[in-house]
Amino acid sequence: MTRTVIAGIIAFVLGAILLCAGGLAAVLGGGGGIGGSGCVVPLGDTPPTISPPPGGWQPTGRFDTEQVGHAATIAQVGAGKGVPIWGWAIATATALQESDLRNLAGGHLDSIGLFQQRPSQGWGTPEQLRDPVYAAGAFYDKLLTIPGWQAMPLTEAAQAVQHSAYPDAYAKHEPDALRLVSQVIGLVDDTGNPLLVCAGAGGPWTQPVIAAVVSGFRTAERPSHDGVDLGAARGTPIKAASTGTVIVVRCNITAGTSCDVDGGSHVRGCGWYVDIQHEQGILTRYCHMLTEPAVTVGQHVAVGDIIGLVGSSGHSSGPHLHYEVHTGASGASSTAIDPVSFMQQVGAPLASGG
Ligand SMILES: [Zn+2]
Repeated sequence: MTRTVIAGIIAFVLGAILLCAGGLAAVLGGGGGIGGSGCVVPLGDTPPTISPPPGGWQPTGRFDTEQVGHAATIAQVGAGKGVPIWGWAIATATALQESDLRNLAGGHLDSIGLFQQRPSQGWGTPEQLRDPVYAAGAFYDKLLTIPGWQAMPLTEAAQAVQHSAYPDAYAKHEPDALRLVSQVIGLVDDTGNPLLVCAGAGGPWTQPVIAAVVSGFRTAERPSHDGVDLGAARGTPIKAASTGTVIVVRCNITAGTSCDVDGGSHVRGCGWYVDIQHEQGILTRYCHMLTEPAVTVGQHVAVGDIIGLVGSSGHSSGPHLHYEVHTGASGASSTAIDPVSFMQQVGAPLASGG
């Protein structure tokens, strides 16, 4: 998948009518591929490639080409060692804290290079540590010896390697690290926002309802079904899956019909629905609510807050929650990923079977 294709896909806008069972064409066949522990690569199962675009690495955000190039080196060394993508993010955040992704000639005491490693502490010779490839490799070699590092918050894993005097300083670099890793593997939308999603990134998650998955994500029978149907009973409270901001509260339905009564197969649209924007560009969508949602646009919600009730408004054959997860703020079909994979990754697995 080239970045040109991705940019084109992301440019699609959300259609006026959302359908539980079709309506918006599925632009991408797969979705929700797991690209290493802790991170979800939304655009397929093939390992990402790390090669500069024609003309070389481009600046992104506040980062210039030199910094992006060092981020690419860190990712390449990680890929070469078989380190999962979450490890690349940890290494990049560490280098941001230690050197702002500059290959520094010196530093505090005898610290050197991207990671400010010290020859006196056994990291290597000064000459070796001035080589970003060697320095990144030394970081990963240590990271891989940390038991359970993949399940640690970024700052804990980084601190376990670095033994910094300021152990909490790594966390603030997590969004930038994910942006840079996304950039160098070509997983950004046309505004530079990362499409890479990592479990350690977005804070705690919970199931919006506890109920069986009665219809899956883009199944053979329903290839344009961009979410999962959770078979909860009418009136079941729906929870915000994670902390965020409500960006859409809407009745999405065929003109002339009402969201305040049950819909049916003859009705189009998502019925009463809510979109919530979370950190790291993740958006969640909740459809077919029973009544007008309990939240308003712009409202900040905490994980687990009740946002509405399970119903059957819109294109729905019976009470259920249609739940979508997107990697882009547009909520367009092209950004939908498999909620089952995603929720498993973030530690709040949806019930299966049904
Ligand atoms: Zn559905």
